[in-house]
Amino acid sequence: MRRSVLRFVAWTIAPHQEPDAEPITHAMQCAACGEKSLPFEEEVEPAQLWALKHAGRTRHDAYREIITRPWRAVPAEGASR
Ligand SMILES: [Zn+2]
Repeated sequence: MRRSVLRFVAWTIAPHQEPDAEPITHAMQCAACGEKSLPFEEEVEPAQLWALKHAGRTRHDAYREIITRPWRAVPAEGASR
């Protein structure tokens, strides 16, 4: 019989806010046809403007906001790697 030993290490996870973190981005996706705006860094207004233009052109009126937020996992305090 083969035995495996797994070592569990506690980790914590938090939003990555260091200078080298990827930017937070906002995009908008049309719920009717699936078309998506580009991702815009930090501000939601450009994504909202895209949705308004899309609504004016297509009459599609339901949208979902797609927020991309970087997170970072690190070993918990006192845990060895
Ligand atoms: Zn659409």
